Amino acid sequence: MPNSDTEAISRSLRELESQARLLDPGPEQRSELWNAVGAHVHERLANLAEQAAYLAEFPLNPGAFALAETPSEVSDAVASLEAVARSGINQTSGGHFAYIPGGGLFASALGDLLADLGNRYSGIQFAAPAASLMERSLIEWMARLVGYPDTAGGDLTSGGSIATLEAIVTARDAGEIRSADVTRTVVYLTTQTHHCVEKALRIAGLGECVVRHVPLDERWRMRPDALEEIVEADVEAGLRPWLVVATAGTTDTGAVDPLAAIAEIAEARGLWLHADAAYGGFFILTEHGRRMLAGIEGSRSVVLDPHKGLFLPFGSGALIVRDERQLAQAHRYSATYLGDARDAGGAFSASDLSVELTRPFRGPRFWLPLKLFGLAPFRAALEEKLLLARYFHLRLSEMPGWIPGPEPDLSVVTFRYRPRRGDPNDFNRRLIEAVYADGRAVISATEIDGAYTLRLAALHYRSHLDDVEALLDVLGRESERLEAA
Ligand SMILES: *Cc1c(COP(=O)(O)O)cnc(C)c1O
Repeated sequence: MPNSDTEAISRSLRELESQARLLDPGPEQRSELWNAVGAHVHERLANLAEQAAYLAEFPLNPGAFALAETPSEVSDAVASLEAVARSGINQTSGGHFAYIPGGGLFASALGDLLADLGNRYSGIQFAAPAASLMERSLIEWMARLVGYPDTAGGDLTSGGSIATLEAIVTARDAGEIRSADVTRTVVYLTTQTHHCVEKALRIAGLGECVVRHVPLDERWRMRPDALEEIVEADVEAGLRPWLVVATAGTTDTGAVDPLAAIAEIAEARGLWLHADAAYGGFFILTEHGRRMLAGIEGSRSVVLDPHKGLFLPFGSGALIVRDERQLAQAHRYSATYLGDARDAGGAFSASDLSVELTRPFRGPRFWLPLKLFGLAPFRAALEEKLLLARYFHLRLSEMPGWIPGPEPDLSVVTFRYRPRRGDPNDFNRRLIEAVYADGRAVISATEIDGAYTLRLAALHYRSHLDDVEALLDVLGRESERLEAA
């Protein structure tokens, strides 16, 4: 009977194979798919200038992305994907000045394509030595940028939040904080610290730490003198000062905390200084940024977001730790099934330094644009954003009724309109609605000291002088229109 069994099985296998092989298109079908997607890509990029920065309404069929057993034409699939681009904030627009704008370099998309083709297992050095080397080189490049010594190591993460979580658990383990210590362990933040820090503390089991919000100066930067006083009082009270988070470019106002002064206090008091440079870190590629971020080399860990300051697509964050061994201490595990895959050449694998095991090969989206274009255009684009913010700040201060916030530390400007009558918060809310309705540019709003405050964040690589002029034009016209109404 085994004979007829194996025959039946092999017949089934042949049938299944012919079905399963549809997942692996041959040269002709590959060309067809490639050309259809290619045509879509060229069309999208050719029409960028005509696209609004914000589109509130697009009639979306709730079943637009429903799936079926049966295959679809590539043209139908691409058409469904087009709907994604037709509502909400247009992340490809130079008129995007809201939140922290994302990037999405074309060269990164090509890098992703090349990375996904080979799908190398970059979490394990043994499985993908060259992929690991590429990612290590990127980490080393960033470590040198922030001025860390050769002991540094890091992780390419999906973003700043995961990088921050890894920083927090590294600092926790380096500080030997056990659960019994948590309620007397003190963390120093400001009210402008990104919420991902408190989120990470909670996830890391440190939600019951004592959190101090260090007072800010008039430009929303941490006051080092106040930090020192509070730490001293905490020591006297028998508490255990552990972590201070300084932000190199806050998300809300773009303020840079005085890193050098904070680093000095951290060093003297044995505090772990974590620098959150998710938004502002890559400005270190510019002269002005280098001055603003001076002292960042005195931190123990730093978070950078290449999907912000290097214009990469979302899903690109990074953590750099001054002493790689501390990062490994907090993250390294082994499993029997990984066997000899560990300890290749003594160097750590990415998964030894990360919460992730299996991960996308993130190197090419990051490496390819830097390799193809060199550093000069990145420096110029970042310099341009700093100058666009200053230009916007200056121009706004010349426009009647407009009250700009402090001169920008980096590329975020806060501002408000002071109406001749009525509630200013209401008026500014109506203003931002008018900006959305116009759609040429998009900004966002925040609340500072109880005041509804508008903000511009210049960080898109496609944002240039004309985009800022267009925004100024909308702001000027709409404020006059609302005053007249
Ligand atoms: C964006 C940002 C974060 C969070 O990073 P994600 O990549 O969004 O997870 C943290 N800190 C600052 C200062 C940021 O601007």
